[in-house]
Amino acid sequence: MEKYRSLGIKLTPQRLAILNFLTDNRSHPSAEAIYKVVSRKFPTMSFATVYNTLEALKSKGCVRELTIDPLKKRYDPDISPHHHLICTKCNEIVDIFKEFRLDLTEKISMGYELNGNHVEFYGICKPCLSN
Ligand code: ZN
Ligand code: MN
Repeated sequence: MEKYRSLGIKLTPQRLAILNFLTDNRSHPSAEAIYKVVSRKFPTMSFATVYNTLEALKSKGCVRELTIDPLKKRYDPDISPHHHLICTKCNEIVDIFKEFRLDLTEKISMGYELNGNHVEFYGICKPCLSN
């Protein structure tokens, strides 16, 4: 939590609860999902508090925003380079830690200095398949 303080993120009890929920969370939760869980402990907390905290964390590079769920933004506390596998039925998002060699010709990359990539795989997860 010292990390957040040194980044200038004010740590209110609500924010601490949000950060605790996000730590080591692999479910790529939406703001709504985080609100649902954290508001159990802080019933007076507003949805805006969750959303603003996520935006603050995003602007400091502490969470990654995933736009792969068309219904709602999802957040990933793991900012290390990795890819995702997405169930098109239930919108579960799973991490893929594997490096893919994706070479772009100079013509395609148009002079850009590339600094990353993100591969999205789509499919149907096991529980959805058996339904
Ligand atoms: Zn599924
Ligand atoms: Mn991830």
